[in-house]
Parts: sequence; structure tokens; C-alpha cells
Amino acid sequence: MKTTELQKIRKQLSKTLDNKRYEHTQGVAYTSAALAMRYGEDIKKAELAGLLHDCAKCLDNDKKIQICKKHSISISEAEDRNPFLLHAKVGGHLAKTKYKIDDEEIIQAVISHTTGRPGMSLLEKIVYIADYIEPARDHAPNLDEVRHLAFQDLDAALLKILEDILVHLKSGKKEIDPMTQMTYEYYKRKQSEE
Ligand code: FE
Ligand code: FE
Repeated sequence: MKTTELQKIRKQLSKTLDNKRYEHTQGVAYTSAALAMRYGEDIKKAELAGLLHDCAKCLDNDKKIQICKKHSISISEAEDRNPFLLHAKVGGHLAKTKYKIDDEEIIQAVISHTTGRPGMSLLEKIVYIADYIEPARDHAPNLDEVRHLAFQDLDAALLKILEDILVHLKSGKKEIDPMTQMTYEYYKRKQSEE
């Protein structure tokens, strides 16, 4: 991926995303690149995955559902009740078709950025964590701690984020996507085995 291609994608994204989402997207791209430097991932690849992670975020829910149906993308029960969750899967689809990405690892990082999944690749973890800690984020609890941890121990940061998200969803009586719960349990088990 050349720098000019990144610029082209940035331009396309600036047209489809609202200002706030575009700013967030840039933050995730830069933070992903920084984490890639720290953990030895391909920097451009991380930047690109970060840029694209929310590429479907500003489509309305009907459009997301329509794309899923048209392209036989499965919709889970949790996604059916909370269609905003679909921006991850639909984003993976758009990354491939609209943004012409043929790197499966990048596409997978877009797909798993909302709920995570057991056995994530380094790139998936980087984008998942960058999405949570990028500079424009200000709502999450323990952000200082998580930001620090992200550059110390990637798996510990991942686990802390999953834990905080579950606490937040439970306290707000919001629905928890079973995949988030599964991801948490997987990494919790992994940590206790170490
Ligand atoms: Fe997202
Ligand atoms: Fe995001």
C-alpha cells in the first residue's frame, strides 16, 4: 500500500463519514500505526485497517441490513436487535468491494473491531484497542490506565477493555453481544493459564 493510496482512501472516507466520525477514524489510524511500531506489526497495514474500521458507520441501519441481505452476510440475533453492530461486518464487505482491499487480515480487523473474537491476530488486537484509546475518546472509564497499558502489554489492555465494556453494558442494562462475552472469557482464561 503506497502513501498515495492511503490518501485516496482518506479522501473517500471524508466524504462518507461525518466530521466527528472522520476525526475518530484518523485517531484510530494513527494510534494503530503507533501500536504497530511498538509490537512489530506492519505500520501501513495497521494504519489502513484503522482508517477503514468504521467505513460503514454512517450508513443508516436499513442500508446496512439491505447490504447484508444482498450479499448473504449473516445477521445474528444481537445484530438484528442492534443493527449498529452490523457496521463492522458491512465495513469488512465495503473494505473489500468499495475500497478494493484484498488483504484478508485487514478485512478481518475491520469485521472484529466491535465485539472482538477469541483468537484475534495481532492486527485485530491493535485496531480493537486503538478504537478504544484514540486521542478523541473521552467517555470510557480508566482511559489513562488503559492507554498506558496498551503500550506495555497488549493482551492485558485488551482484557481490561473487554472487562470495562461488559461492566458498562451491564450497568446501563444494555444488551451484551454474546461475542463480546465470549472474547472476554477466552482472554480471561488465557491470562490465567499464563
Ligand atoms: Fe466501530
Ligand atoms: Fe470506531
